[in-house]
Amino acid sequence: MPDTVARAQLDTVLRSGGFRMTRQRRVIYESLVQAGRHVDANDLFEQVRKRYPGISLATVYRTVAVLKAVGLVKALPLGEGHQHFEPASDTVHYHLLCTACGRVMEFNPAEVAGAVAGLVESGWHIEGVEFFVKGRCPKCTAQKNV
Ligand SMILES: [Zn+2]
Ligand SMILES: [Zn+2]
Repeated sequence: MPDTVARAQLDTVLRSGGFRMTRQRRVIYESLVQAGRHVDANDLFEQVRKRYPGISLATVYRTVAVLKAVGLVKALPLGEGHQHFEPASDTVHYHLLCTACGRVMEFNPAEVAGAVAGLVESGWHIEGVEFFVKGRCPKCTAQKNV
């Protein structure tokens, strides 16, 4: 996992935000990284429980809030009721949400990258790009048509 924060760095980042490094925080962050991308709080809770039995969902929520506060975790704005998280160290990508199965997929269209590069060339300083597609994935669309 080259683009994630190492343990010592995690400690430093937490401290600089005024938080202590605890085993709980480390396990929750590592679980988020290992879970792959775009987990919601419940997915993350299931992952964390495997390594830390007895942890509560409330603790997972609180810890995610801490990790967000220090910039290690990003919450994805995926519309109503979909609060997904991913490590903030991930490379640039955009999201597709299937409203039928709830799966979040990522894509990185060359057209968007090209458009952004074009803006930079024309003198724009880019602070952020949001691009989000919502619909039914091919699998769900096929099922609907049966
Ligand atoms: Zn993502
Ligand atoms: Zn789907």
